[in-house]
Amino acid sequence: MPHRHHRLVILGTGPAGLTAALYAARADLEPLVIDGTQPGGQLMITTEVENYPGFPQGITGPELMQHFRDQAEKFGAKIESGTVSTADLAAKPIRLDLEGTGVACDALIIATGASARWLDIPSERALMGHGVSACATCDGFFFKGKEIAVVGGGDTAMEEATFLTKFASKVTVIHRRDELRASKAMQERARANEKIAFKWNSVVVEVLDPREKKVTGLRLKDTVNGAEEVMPVEGLFLAIGHVPNTAPFVGQIEMDPNGYIVTQGKSTRTSLPGVFACGDVQDHVYRQAISAAGSGCMAALDAERFLSGVH
Ligand code: NDP
Repeated sequence: MPHRHHRLVILGTGPAGLTAALYAARADLEPLVIDGTQPGGQLMITTEVENYPGFPQGITGPELMQHFRDQAEKFGAKIESGTVSTADLAAKPIRLDLEGTGVACDALIIATGASARWLDIPSERALMGHGVSACATCDGFFFKGKEIAVVGGGDTAMEEATFLTKFASKVTVIHRRDELRASKAMQERARANEKIAFKWNSVVVEVLDPREKKVTGLRLKDTVNGAEEVMPVEGLFLAIGHVPNTAPFVGQIEMDPNGYIVTQGKSTRTSLPGVFACGDVQDHVYRQAISAAGSGCMAALDAERFLSGVH
């Protein structure tokens, strides 16, 4: 396959990828930026962003990401849609296959982010978009006056459950243990909400009912005694964490046991020279738009130094 050559390719157009694109474009590296499966990243499924510095009145996620994109393009970043199916990171130049289109580059910035984790049971997949969702802010509106459930015991689960009480008549948080992982403040807010109930030591083993093409209930299993029961609900929201989008790079660069790319020291360098990582794909701790943007800036500066031979 013939490979178009670019000095720098950036994978991902969330805050990390687009900040890297802005800095790289201003450094005359003429970066090619690849959109990936979720252009704009996770902020595209967020409503109000109140903690991005510089926007004291708040801004919607999609609007913020449009600003990022406009600013990167203004300085010459070229953004294309596509996803990486395979990559040869050790090749010189680095080779990427974008669903049949070959791209080669001297340096690569991986900013592919992380995606919501799913339970991975067939009935869940069958009812995605028909009552099963991983985004309360996107889909909460459809559950006005209904009884629904949220799976998870972390901050996301508390935040989503609390948000969903704006619409739902009752929200049951289903957690596999009897103790929440969420921060104290988020727990207290959820526990104080009269519309929120908790179902402890339980996992969802089946979402009912794919034959009806809608959610009518959940088959739950008690994690202590194995007993099963059906809980009638009309919607299910998953809030069980995220998985990094690193599939094409597995086995080629160092990753932690959860698949997040390992970066070296305070840099964005990975275990391979010329390959850099920024944003949520290498950060499961802070995971904020502003910290992702900051690491995107670092990645562009690291890549620029690499390309000019200063290591
Ligand atoms: P977490 O990893 O913190 O929590 C995931 C939850 O899902 C855990 O309670 C876990 O259970 C449960 N879980 C994981 N896999 C499964 C499964 N297969 N079946 C059932 N349950 C499962 O993810 P979050 O998305 O909640 O949070 C991620 C990070 O983002 C955290 O650092 C959090 O503090 C931060 N955050 C902050 C917010 C804020 O401050 N406003 C809002 C949202 C997130 P168990 O506890 O048993 O492991």
